Amino acid sequence: LEVIASVEPRVAQATRQELADQRSSLKLIASENYASPATLLTMGTWFSDKYAEGTVGHRFYAACQNVDTVEALAAEHARELFGAPYAYAQPHSGIDANLVAFWSILANRVETPALARLGAKNVNELSEADWEQLRHEFGNQRLLGMSLDAGGHLTHGFRPNISGKMFHQQQYGTDPETGLLDYDVVRAKAQEFKPLVLVAGYSAYPRRVNFAKMREIADEVGAVLMVDMAHFAGLVAGKVFTGDEDPVPHAQIVTTTTHKSLRGPRGGLVLAQEEFAADVDRGCPMVLGGPLSHVMAAKAVALAEARQPEFRTYAQQIADNAKSLAEGFLTRGATLVTGGTDNHLVLLDVSGFGLTGRQAESALLDAGVVTNRNSVPGDPNGAWYTSGIRFGTPALTTRGFGHDEFDTVADLVVDVLSNTQAGTNKAGAPSKATYATSDGVADRVRARSAEM
Ligand code: PLP
Repeated sequence: LEVIASVEPRVAQATRQELADQRSSLKLIASENYASPATLLTMGTWFSDKYAEGTVGHRFYAACQNVDTVEALAAEHARELFGAPYAYAQPHSGIDANLVAFWSILANRVETPALARLGAKNVNELSEADWEQLRHEFGNQRLLGMSLDAGGHLTHGFRPNISGKMFHQQQYGTDPETGLLDYDVVRAKAQEFKPLVLVAGYSAYPRRVNFAKMREIADEVGAVLMVDMAHFAGLVAGKVFTGDEDPVPHAQIVTTTTHKSLRGPRGGLVLAQEEFAADVDRGCPMVLGGPLSHVMAAKAVALAEARQPEFRTYAQQIADNAKSLAEGFLTRGATLVTGGTDNHLVLLDVSGFGLTGRQAESALLDAGVVTNRNSVPGDPNGAWYTSGIRFGTPALTTRGFGHDEFDTVADLVVDVLSNTQAGTNKAGAPSKATYATSDGVADRVRARSAEM
């Protein structure tokens, strides 16, 4: 930090403050974690200065021999860890990994058959008319994914996102009564819509998914099953999700982030069955800029960590802790979407406290409890104010929290929310953003969490 301070002291100060803030609060954002010092240090090296478009051993730049080493290691660890035939370590983030997956599916299922039909080796050989026709075909494909308010991600076909614009899209939700995925409904939608891509995976669904069943549905309609395991990759790596709940043997393409429950550097990863390997390899420079070599090196380090036996203990503890947190909320009278959890996250419906998600998130933050607001299924408050708070256990599990600590976390959260009232705007009308917490509550909660 002294070196940084000698150039731009405000960056050094913000960095120091970020450490202090992360240490003095309870990190319950489901998509965050604490990467190891080895992973963090690996990101701060001179690999950052290297350009390496292309793939291992096949680069558009010279002198990539060391990048080749770290990229190959990241891919090897990923293949071994997840039991995947093929791994691509270049995506800069989870969204980039999904874009690589979409385009590799389009290449495999639309472009390659069209080129074969037209007797061309690549798109440069096509006549203007054939090229226009192929571009039209690209734009005419269908994607079916989980809706945002049911827990899906923006990139699973949400209209405002590029995934909703590059595909004709439809979405499946969850059962309005139970909040659970209903595979018969997914099947009926798939049979009616006939998508090219069926996306499974989620950001805010507190339950496990049967990926064998999703593959069955995809096969019935001739779709490619793509699973986005960004949130629960750590539970797959740690063998908490096995059999039908492990997406890797069932999906043709699996994407993930590396920084959430997997506890690596910020980045993405694509796993694929052999059939899609060559198409995924075209990710850079098709949709990705030059790879972040320093981050690929850090992925190799973090994935090596995840292959250690201790990671399985960690992953199991993540799931056990989520159960403890859910029980802690339920015994204190709170309402949870789906009534509980069996993964790493808990979705609390805060409407029972008379609050919006936005008010609850702000009141909790004042007390040093860092969460994020989230829609609940059919949310009357929309995606901005919301009616839910999403909690995740990966980060505090890294800090060593267990059952008792998570029960205390539930107590602290309920203490804040039951002592917070919705506020009004300047004109005195009810507001979805303003709130007031009774005096002393935030300090009381901060003091208790400091002891943990
Ligand atoms: N996919 C899912 C399921 C996610 O939850 C997220 C991020 O929250 C992403 C993709 C995007 O990841 P990134 O922010 O690294 O692009």
